[in-house]
Amino acid sequence: MITCTRRIEFDSAHRILNHESKCKFLHGHRYALEASFVANKLDNLGRVIDFGLIRDLLGSWVDEHLDHNTILCRKDENLGEKITAETGQKIYYLEENPTAENIAQHILEEICPKLFAEKNVKCVAIKLYETPNCSVDVK
Ligand SMILES: [Zn+2]
Repeated sequence: MITCTRRIEFDSAHRILNHESKCKFLHGHRYALEASFVANKLDNLGRVIDFGLIRDLLGSWVDEHLDHNTILCRKDENLGEKITAETGQKIYYLEENPTAENIAQHILEEICPKLFAEKNVKCVAIKLYETPNCSVDVK
């Protein structure tokens, strides 16, 4: 099986509701997302998908929704509304706590299927680095 992977980096703030330690405080990360795709067969040029197309579709989505934004749990809307009122920032909400695991799962299961619905590929894995030393894999 051939997979094609593109790395996309972005800066976001988040906090983890009910975290035992300092991750309950609003803080930021330089995230690195690695999205892997497969196709039933390679295209005429011998590719799973053009790397540029991943950048255009997923990279643009990340840029619009996550980069230089704050990712919060829907249950944290009180904080989100204060940030929006103060800064105009449109908070990106997840139904679950914005852990790396939940962000990666959201991108794999909800975002990529929509973005690539018209393309002959499927996103089969997301690796999301929250720090250079810490990452999660969702398949
Ligand atoms: Zn964090």
